[in-house]
Amino acid sequence: MKKLEYVWLDGYKPEPMLRSKVKVIDGEIPGNQGTDLPDWSFDGSSTQQAEGGSSDCILKPVTTYTGPANSDSLVMCEVLSPDRSSHPSNTRSLCGEVTDEWWFGFEQEYFFTNPEDGTILGWEDGTPRPQGDYYCGVGAGDVVGREISEAHMDACIEAGIIITGTNAEVALGQWEYQCFGKGLKAGDDLWMSRYLLHLIAEEFGVAVNTHPKPQEGDWNGSGMHANFSNDQMRNAGSEDFMHSLCEKLGAVHDEGIASYGSDNDKRLTGDHETQSIDTFSYGVSDRGASIRIPIYTVENNWNGYLEDRRPASNADPYRIIAHIVGTLT
Ligand code: MG
Repeated sequence: MKKLEYVWLDGYKPEPMLRSKVKVIDGEIPGNQGTDLPDWSFDGSSTQQAEGGSSDCILKPVTTYTGPANSDSLVMCEVLSPDRSSHPSNTRSLCGEVTDEWWFGFEQEYFFTNPEDGTILGWEDGTPRPQGDYYCGVGAGDVVGREISEAHMDACIEAGIIITGTNAEVALGQWEYQCFGKGLKAGDDLWMSRYLLHLIAEEFGVAVNTHPKPQEGDWNGSGMHANFSNDQMRNAGSEDFMHSLCEKLGAVHDEGIASYGSDNDKRLTGDHETQSIDTFSYGVSDRGASIRIPIYTVENNWNGYLEDRRPASNADPYRIIAHIVGTLT
């Protein structure tokens, strides 16, 4: 017997949540690609994806991962309507064809919280000391939740997700990890890494908060900086070319913001290493810009990548990919 954990995005707004259920199959898992696995169905009336009268939605496997101890495989799925057309909640389908020449590195920030009352982990006795000691910190007074971050990192590595690093972030209880991927699979991997984060934290009795500004005041919010490149950017770049890409994204700034997560206005204030949500700017090494041109790219004769700093921590990576690739091709 093999246990397959089917994972999908529900129909909740403004941001979808992750759902899963386990399918037990007799015998070996067929092949190693999602497309070899059987479709399945679920009750869409319980996930804001259907009316009660006709509630079946279809789960179509797209990518599989090695599961943690309690399941043999994790299966990222798209949701289809009963007639097998793409379901309206299926943002993956917005991306169309995205070839592997497109590389993405997402920097996922988030807070650990106490599930009972939503307080941030480490803030149970009130507001902690101001920011300064916590970023990449070490020691019991400066860091909380490290054991969960490390268990999550190990689970991602085991799953076959390319997690390229983790760090304690600027606020106490805030963490980041970076996730690299090519083409549309970059979006699958990021969603599955989030699923694993919730799953692993659950085992510790801790919740995960991906709101872009969970704590008002002089505290950093959470973003999901999106580093991206294509063949030409990596191999045949130039100053003019990189600037032209930034200009193209700037011309559709409002569209980008609409695709980059909800409540992002609370985070993109112009403070805490952000540009204001109403302004578009770009610059070399500029962490106060909408798009940062990394010094690596400049020193590499303008071959490299760009960092879109606008996406919020709760952004849907499929919508980010759809916006960037759609705008630049
Ligand atoms: Mg960060």
